[in-house]
Amino acid sequence: VVMRAPNSYTTEDVVEIHCHGSPFVLRKILELVLNSGARLAEPGEFTQRAFLNGRIDLTQAEAIYDLIHANSEIGAAIAANQMSGNLYKAIDDVRKKIVSIASSVEAKIEFPEEYFEKSQKDSISISLDQAYNDLKKLLKHAEFGQKIRKGVSVTLIGRPNVGKSSLLNLLLNEERAIVTEIPGTTRDLIEEFIQIEGIPFRLTDTAGIRNSNDPIEKEGINRAQVARKNADLLLLVLDASERLKKEDTSLINEIEKNKTIIILNKKDLIKSNNPPWYNSISDLENILVSAKSGDGLNKLKSKLYEKALNGIEPFQEKIWITNRRQLQYASNALDSLKSARKVLSESQGEEFLAADLRSCMNNLGVIVGETTVDELLEKIFSEFCIGK
Ligand code: GDP
Repeated sequence: VVMRAPNSYTTEDVVEIHCHGSPFVLRKILELVLNSGARLAEPGEFTQRAFLNGRIDLTQAEAIYDLIHANSEIGAAIAANQMSGNLYKAIDDVRKKIVSIASSVEAKIEFPEEYFEKSQKDSISISLDQAYNDLKKLLKHAEFGQKIRKGVSVTLIGRPNVGKSSLLNLLLNEERAIVTEIPGTTRDLIEEFIQIEGIPFRLTDTAGIRNSNDPIEKEGINRAQVARKNADLLLLVLDASERLKKEDTSLINEIEKNKTIIILNKKDLIKSNNPPWYNSISDLENILVSAKSGDGLNKLKSKLYEKALNGIEPFQEKIWITNRRQLQYASNALDSLKSARKVLSESQGEEFLAADLRSCMNNLGVIVGETTVDELLEKIFSEFCIGK
């Protein structure tokens, strides 16, 4: 298939060879092509060429990577949106505003005898505020945007035998963790992905947190502590059919309330509506479930969804900052604007204002790839697979 410039992915003349799928035939054709002077592509080389030839900007190139690696409905939706250039456009709009402000400020520096009128200062101030608010809006959900790629991390904690592994299996709807009746059998961390309403969650089951002398179990417990610290959300599992033990109470006393949901498990084993000690945890967010019968599972899923999103409407928001690189430069740009606003309101002088605006433009330029260093590009494209 012959694709003439500029109507190809890379904007160059491209020939694609399609053939029957036998590895032998493929290899033969590849040998023939290589012997005729072609070379193998570097990872991400096609996308890099598309970028260097101006077909796409850097955010679109990153979106292609994200789309290839998307593991959830929302991840794919956001990547597709970014691929069509919406993040680029949003960043570019802010940049155009700054360019226009900067040019009037630079003009003032060039012709200092001209009086900087109050009306002019006011209009710069208004434009600055607008640009600042636009950028701030883009950054608002950036933290969640990054969670979308890795999944919202949820760690199950609780003493041995309360039903953590059973609960994980129920959430996964398959037998992944080993369930036994011997306390302390989950010694390593188990990590699995689920989707709730299109949002990815990364679930980690931890070794039962308790004091132990067994070195392997001890290591498991150490890892559990780390997983617990880094988790976005915690599920503290308690056995509703038993009295609260010392280990349970100390876990309850330690938890960070805003990121924890208490699971009262083994609902099927209790006759009343709640365990007798319910009052001691009733002020914490809690759900009664049975990992055995599946009772309460849907309620748990909606609670996880609600807590992870915290008011964000992911399928409504169209433009997201989704990686650390974009976030870093967008925050730098925002800081420069913050400083520019201060300089202007305190009338510190146009040179300072111009410097802040330039710094803002540079940072925005890095996000879309207009001002970049080679190492950065190398790093981004080396993560792609060959042939992309
Ligand atoms: P973990 O040590 O916290 O991971 O606990 P497990 O998931 O291994 O469960 C310990 C024991 O409790 C197993 O025998 C499970 O079958 C049992 N179990 C877990 N959840 C329930 C439940 O909701 N109801 C009943 N009746 N038994 C459960």
